[in-house]
This record gives sequence, C-alpha cells and structure tokens, in this order.
Amino acid sequence: MTRRAEKILDMLAELYPDAACALEHRNPFELLVATILSAQCTDARVNIITKRLFAQAATAAAIIELGEDRLRQLIHGCGLHNNKAANIMAACRMLQQQHGGQVPRTREELEALPGVGRKTASVVLSTAFGQPAIAVDTHVFRVSKRLGLADGINPEKTEQQLMKIFPRHRWAHSHHLLIFHGRNLCMARKPLCGQCPLKAMCDYYRESVKDG
Ligand code: SF4
Repeated sequence: MTRRAEKILDMLAELYPDAACALEHRNPFELLVATILSAQCTDARVNIITKRLFAQAATAAAIIELGEDRLRQLIHGCGLHNNKAANIMAACRMLQQQHGGQVPRTREELEALPGVGRKTASVVLSTAFGQPAIAVDTHVFRVSKRLGLADGINPEKTEQQLMKIFPRHRWAHSHHLLIFHGRNLCMARKPLCGQCPLKAMCDYYRESVKDG
C-alpha cells in the first residue's frame, strides 16, 4: 500500500462521492445477469434491458422456464445477444443444479459459471457480497495506467498491482472510483485533463504537457 495511491483514492472519493455500481439490481442473481449483459454494452442500456427481462423472469428457475428463444428476444439490443443468451441460460441451469438456484460466494464457483470470467466474478464478489476484490474493466485499466498506479501490461497484472498499493478495505470502492473517473473526465479519446484535479500527480498529463 502506498501513500500516493491512497491520496489518489481520497481525491477521487471527494470528486465522486456517489461512486457505486451503476448496474441496477435487487439481489446477487440480478447483478450476475446484469454484469454478463454489460460486456461491450453501456450500463444505461443494460439497465433498460434488465428492467424488461426481470419483469418477466427474475430468478434462475424463471429464466429456464422462459426458454432461450424468449430470453434472446428480451435481451436484444445489448450486443452479442446470442452468446449472452446461451451463457445466461447455461449459467441458470448450473445455478439450479449445483447451487439451489442461488449465486455462489466463492470465486472458483463463480468462474465455473458459463459467461463468467475473472472481472464478472470480482464485480459480484465485491458488490453483491462485500468481499474485497478489484474488477479491472477498460476504465480501471486505462485510468490506472495514466495515473501511474499500474503499468498497463494486462488487466490481470493491473489487478495485482492495484491490490498491492490500495488498502484491502478500499479495493471494492476503488473500482467504482476509477470507473467514474474514466467516464466523467479521463475518457479514452479526449481526457479532460484541464478540469482534472489529479493532473499534478498524473503521468499521462506530465507526458502530454512535455510533448505538447
Ligand atoms: S490528468 Fe488527464 S489523463 Fe490524468 S487522470 Fe486526469 S483526466 Fe486522466
């Protein structure tokens, strides 16, 4: 853990006091489905789709009952809907057969579900179950690299590096803070560095000033 990393988290927490999971959900199952749907799709669109879906079927048993064709129709518009429908259906079957219809609480069991990789498991573990985990999505990956918190080689390495420098009790929230910053100021194409209170400690800004 480093003082600089904590200082960055403090500044982000001040900037984004409401930073939290943007995927609307009422329980771990809904969060799991929403997170699977969020691959290559905005959270806002996922929220529209899950509202429609969960009004029809909001449990693993109900989604199995719905059938894959109807599921595919209901999630249309979130991108990769054929794959996502197949994964959600297979995950629901596994939840029913092996976990009594409930979402498991261990990384190993979560990652065994179809459509669930390390990032999705981290989102569910941290947001639904309050376990310490850092989900590295595209925003977390980019912002961490720009701020010099991680070297940006790959998401797995970034996750390990962030876990070393952030205190464990702040892991889950750090994910939301970095996402909010990536969405609001530190966008991929044109980051709004002029408005960013972190520029004095930002590697990317220092380099761009030097080059510009
Ligand atoms: S100064 Fe620019 S690149 Fe650095 S964190 Fe802020 S917005 Fe991102």
